Amino acid sequence: QISESDLDTRVPVQHRYAEIDQLAVTFNQMLDRIRRLVTGMRQMNDNIAHDLRSPITRIRGLAEVTLTHDPDLESYARMAANTIEECDRLLDMINTMLTIARTESGTAPPVLAPVDLDQLVKVACDLFQALAEDKQIALECAAGTPCRIDGDGPMLQRMLANLIDNAIKYTDSGGTVTVDLALHGPHGEIRLTVTDTGEGIPSEEQPRVFDRFYRGDRSRCHAGAGLGLSLALTVAQAHGGRITLESEPGRGSTFTVHLPPAANP
Ligand code: ADP
Repeated sequence: QISESDLDTRVPVQHRYAEIDQLAVTFNQMLDRIRRLVTGMRQMNDNIAHDLRSPITRIRGLAEVTLTHDPDLESYARMAANTIEECDRLLDMINTMLTIARTESGTAPPVLAPVDLDQLVKVACDLFQALAEDKQIALECAAGTPCRIDGDGPMLQRMLANLIDNAIKYTDSGGTVTVDLALHGPHGEIRLTVTDTGEGIPSEEQPRVFDRFYRGDRSRCHAGAGLGLSLALTVAQAHGGRITLESEPGRGSTFTVHLPPAANP
């Protein structure tokens, strides 16, 4: 158990001996990092508890109404359907948490096989076309570059789906979402970008959006559990890659997945 006073034991720099001053500065810097980590973990635990509690509270409420109100068959069926929906939401969250934890710990590494990334992008765009049209958003798929890697197809598909889903979710009607695939630099690094013209992300939120269960202040009015980007990052890292973000509030965001070039393209 780490208490506030444990984190408040900074060593004064006394300017008498250079080596001791250097040690004190290093110690204080380490303490600052630990304080930031502890604060982040506390915030994450708080978010996890909140996000797991919400569907359980709703399921409990539905069960209670069913018990105490002697409902007619129609409302009984509706409540049962709502209960199943909430259970599915909960299961989805727990499954995603397990996938992230198992992939990160290496107990469920990606199952590698040749994957045509350009085809994967096309399939993902086709899948989201209807959702984009419903919201009157132009979904453009610019993935013309043939590109094959050794990857885990279903995992990469899920990563891309999370990025496109977010882009559509956080963009108002009339906006545009573009998915692109390109090779960069002399070694042919793969860059998969999902760009939107949506609400953007304030700079102070940007370092936290990949944290598990983190949800932006304005995102509470949209459905979600704060796990989409965390899973996307885990998948990219499990393939030896990373994800970068450029965003400007009011103008939109670009998420770029950087993947190492295929060994045998
Ligand atoms: P969720 O969408 O379920 O909240 P995510 O992990 O996918 O969780 O995203 C975390 C947060 O990052 C979101 O709550 C939102 O604030 C922000 N975010 C993600 N993608 C976008 C985007 N394309 N545009 C604006 N904000 C975004």
